[in-house]
Amino acid sequence: MKGFDFHRPASVADAVAFLKGNDGAKLLAGGQSLLPVMKLDLAQPTDLVSLAKIAGLDEIRAEGDTLVIGALATHDQVATSADVKRLIPGLAKLAAGIGDPQVRNRGTLGGSLGHADPAADYPAAVLALGATIATDRRTIPADDYFTGLFQTALAADEIVTAVHFPVPKRSAYAKFAHPASKYALVGVMVAKTGGGVRVAVTGAGSKAFRVPGLEAALGADFTPDAVPDGAVSTADVRSGSEASPEYLAHLATVMARRAVQACL
Ligand SMILES: Cc1cc2nc3c(=O)[nH]c(=O)nc-3n(C[C@H](O)[C@H](O)[C@H](O)COP(=O)(O)OP(=O)(O)OC[C@H]3O[C@@H](n4cnc5c(N)ncnc54)[C@H](O)[C@@H]3O)c2cc1C
Repeated sequence: MKGFDFHRPASVADAVAFLKGNDGAKLLAGGQSLLPVMKLDLAQPTDLVSLAKIAGLDEIRAEGDTLVIGALATHDQVATSADVKRLIPGLAKLAAGIGDPQVRNRGTLGGSLGHADPAADYPAAVLALGATIATDRRTIPADDYFTGLFQTALAADEIVTAVHFPVPKRSAYAKFAHPASKYALVGVMVAKTGGGVRVAVTGAGSKAFRVPGLEAALGADFTPDAVPDGAVSTADVRSGSEASPEYLAHLATVMARRAVQACL
């Protein structure tokens, strides 16, 4: 690991100021993704800008029919929050299944979205729930946020500050976890919302993606039996060393049925 300067600004504006015009600077939240990457020398930031001292960035609150979760809320905070459990229990359950207790106590919602790992769990939630990602300068609909493998719509000096989740009628997440890392080999989040059914798959592709054909089928009949074989196409999934596209597509179909069942 290379040496770096460490900064702990007290406000989002100060953090942005550290990032602006400094290509070598990286934000640090829980460090659960960035530090492993640095240890492998795959990232060599000259400056780490910690969000830890910025007050209020981990707040979780209900705002009418929207649940607002601050970027610095840890996975454990999301999993155990009374508001999350009451309003979007499927999201609390998703957070409770991330990694292990150490990862959940340090890792954050904003860090997960900043990293945009294609096997991370939150991307399925923000897409299926039709969330909006708030940053220091704008709001980004989840549908526009993930742009590719570890790629997002964020500018290099942009900071996620919170995620706004519209409260669905029902939602659930089903994950087939990698036995070693607990990352999703495939995870599927299903949400029944006022505007229809939304389904998002993580783990199977180069980024999380929605499944419009399946959303239409579940809009007409919200039952596990309405998820047909082949609901997720092999064309949408990656080919990797761990599993064939056929296996991943089939697994996504099975996880979709389980998620719908869990909603009932
Ligand atoms: C053993 C292990 C198992 C894991 N298992 C899972 C799992 O099952 N499911 C899962 O989803 N994840 C898993 N993770 C990843 C974990 O959830 C990470 O915590 C998360 O992906 C990153 O969050 P962080 O707060 O640690 O971010 P950091 O590591 O601090 O940062 C990650 C990246 O996001 C950027 N960033 C941080 N905060 C912000 C922000 N507010 N705005 C913009 N960019 C930001 C950073 O600059 C960096 O590039 C696992 C990690 C480990 C080590």
